[in-house]
Amino acid sequence: MQKGKNLKIIIVGPQGSGKGTQAEMIATEYKIANISTGVMFREAIKNQTDLGRAVQSIMMQGDLVPDKLTNELIKERLGKSDCKKGFILDGYPRNLAQAEYLLAIHNISHIFEIWVSDKEAIKRISGRRMCSCGMTYHLEYNPPKIAGVCDRCDGRLFLRDDDTEEAVKQRLKIYHQETESIISFFEKKGIHYRINGEQKIPNVYKDVNKILNKILNDNKKKKQTRY
Ligand code: ADP
Ligand code: AMP
Repeated sequence: MQKGKNLKIIIVGPQGSGKGTQAEMIATEYKIANISTGVMFREAIKNQTDLGRAVQSIMMQGDLVPDKLTNELIKERLGKSDCKKGFILDGYPRNLAQAEYLLAIHNISHIFEIWVSDKEAIKRISGRRMCSCGMTYHLEYNPPKIAGVCDRCDGRLFLRDDDTEEAVKQRLKIYHQETESIISFFEKKGIHYRINGEQKIPNVYKDVNKILNKILNDNKKKKQTRY
């Protein structure tokens, strides 16, 4: 059986907590689709599609794209065949309305909350460098082997347009005002796991992996005892 087949994960945390970094590692190891609404919106802006033009100024200010556009985008993406092998959602849902919409169209197996303080989040964002292939680096904490060049695809690294001081402040404010509420929503459903994000990248991953392995083993045992 496919290793991560039943994994339908949400990863949540403040901007800069390391969601994208961890999501990439989880998706690679468990061979599940890595879905980031932020990446999809940035791609739409780069290609100047109708969606890209509609969301560009909203994103630059650090505000949330309207739920209708975001929900439609995610519904279409989750309908694609690669999601049948499991998926990890990074950056969605970001408020209660999106969480309720998501559960109406899909079931979710776990939510990982990566906790860091705002102070640490700001430090990380200020050194962040991205590659269009999905890899994320940090000038000090996780530098590429060759400065400015992606280890995986040799692409040129770039700074995100919305990693400005003003937009970061606004994004963190929205995180605390709107996104944090989805944590208790999923906590009540018994599928929430809190991870200390203020550790080195491999140690955060070790904590996530420990939980995932336990869940997959428990699922296997349940299946074996079913008949
Ligand atoms: P998010 O997706 O939550 O906004 P990222 O994965 O883009 O966060 O990480 C933000 C920045 O912090 C990146 O530059 C990344 O390389 C770095 N980073 C991620 N996890 C850690 C960590 N555990 N310790 C130090 N730096 C980290
Ligand atoms: P991220 O890459 O997750 O930090 O997202 C970058 C930006 O994309 C956000 O600041 C929002 O403007 C927009 N965005 C991403 N995901 C969502 C979402 N689920 N709902 C609304 N806006 C979003």
